Amino acid sequence: MKVLVINAGSSSLKYQLIDMDNEGVLAKGLIERIGLDKAIIGQTILGKKSKVEERLADHSAALKVVLDALVGQDAPLKSIEEIDAVGHRVVHSGEKFCTSVKLDDGTIADIEKISDLAPLHNPANLMGIKACLNILPSKPAVAVFDTSFHSTMPDHAFMYALPYDLYKDHQIRKYGFHGTSHLFVSSEANKALGGKKSKVIVCHLGNGASLSAVVDGKCVDTTMGLTPLEGLMMGTRSGDIDPSVVEFVMQKTGQTIGETTNMLNKKSGVFGVSGVSSDFRDVLQAEKDGNKQASLAIEMFVYRVKKYIGSYMAAMNGLDAIAFTAGVGENSPILRERLCKELDGIGILLDDKKNQATVGEFGQISSKKSKVKVFVIPTNEELVIARETIKYGFSK
Ligand code: ADP
Repeated sequence: MKVLVINAGSSSLKYQLIDMDNEGVLAKGLIERIGLDKAIIGQTILGKKSKVEERLADHSAALKVVLDALVGQDAPLKSIEEIDAVGHRVVHSGEKFCTSVKLDDGTIADIEKISDLAPLHNPANLMGIKACLNILPSKPAVAVFDTSFHSTMPDHAFMYALPYDLYKDHQIRKYGFHGTSHLFVSSEANKALGGKKSKVIVCHLGNGASLSAVVDGKCVDTTMGLTPLEGLMMGTRSGDIDPSVVEFVMQKTGQTIGETTNMLNKKSGVFGVSGVSSDFRDVLQAEKDGNKQASLAIEMFVYRVKKYIGSYMAAMNGLDAIAFTAGVGENSPILRERLCKELDGIGILLDDKKNQATVGEFGQISSKKSKVKVFVIPTNEELVIARETIKYGFSK
């Protein structure tokens, strides 16, 4: 079976064509600047890379370019009919969906209704869904949500201590994001632990960053909230702050609420504190060059991840493994070392050599003496979407 995985943003479309017989990637690509002067179309088809620029009016035009590239003599398909199903990343499920869902008029209308919870993302995801349904109307299509892995959180973990009516009337609560990554990485960690009952913390540390606490494969808590702004300090997001900061900043600076929210999402975090960059590589280099703010930004990031590790150990009453994933988690031995330093008091101890040697690949990097196992597990969100598409696209 061949599954087309689509991740549509407001002006972008990312895709993978996966052969589910061996879970191999036949083609992948990223189209950016859809609807602007010239779109940038980067693709790797059967291992061959290409990059071209062309004006693309909308997501339907972008999808047509993708399908044209997938079909032909030096392409993985002879006809688009060989695509068996399409899986779509959708950011927010609200409380409506606890699992992935097969798309039809009813479920699409429900996703439209949830859009006020993710006004920047769900409408963009829906553009991709509608473009696909126009071109491939007879193929099963499935929505796979960023939030649904976290739907197993108990109410005492997902509720905010606000007037209860805000939850009842507007479903204001913690939802969590990066769910496909947390699902993939926690289940790989569980396999590495021997498939028994387990308590795992997944550290998804990329530009966006979140932790989840997972007991026997089920998420019991996660750091992101109603939106991805809550939790860890990130590349450009503040993470947890005192909510009163918002009004105070507005009074002091004259910023509007929109400008202040934009500041918290785009100008804060590692970028805001360091004043250098949102990219950890740049900030680590600046620290080496003696930049004190860069050093402070990294220390803050590390300290906050450690605090959440400690709190999730308490929430789960124990811990079998930590799994690092995403850009920083997979590729930065130095940050992993700093994240695990001085955690021997709670049973976490790295093997320095294994940590240094494990970059962008699976590995166990804890020392033999460590009570808690530490893994590096490269995430694979597209594969989760493809697996879910098969699971929900063909069920009655
Ligand atoms: P996104 O959230 O955009 O999907 P990624 O998971 O791709 O992010 O992670 C991107 C981040 O990973 C970059 O901002 C960069 O800081 C970080 N990163 C990637 N490689 C390294 C590395 N070798 N050392 C430190 N940081 C890295």
